[in-house]
Amino acid sequence: MRNLETQYPKWRHTSPVLLDAEAVRVAEEEIAACEFCAPAESEVPFDYILDCVTGYDPEFTDYVLPEAARCPSCGKNLRTGYSRWYYSEEDVRALFVLPATLVALKGR
Ligand SMILES: [Zn+2]
Repeated sequence: MRNLETQYPKWRHTSPVLLDAEAVRVAEEEIAACEFCAPAESEVPFDYILDCVTGYDPEFTDYVLPEAARCPSCGKNLRTGYSRWYYSEEDVRALFVLPATLVALKGR
């Protein structure tokens, strides 16, 4: 596992978790479509699927994928959520947030 510790300030208590390819495949199998091919139905963040597959607490976990996860319907890359505190040029603390791709789950 790569050491990503240096990129993570101590005061943000999330841990980067490198998933294996199998976990990504399992997550993809739960997905019917994504926000690109089915914007009306897609309302679950991709991270949520990973939480369910891995059992990690989403509050404290950032996922690192070994390879791109793809929408089974349209083939677009699925992005995991990402947020990080940083200091702007004026030394103001701010939160940068990149939301996860929204997906639609397969019906059960
Ligand atoms: Zn799609």
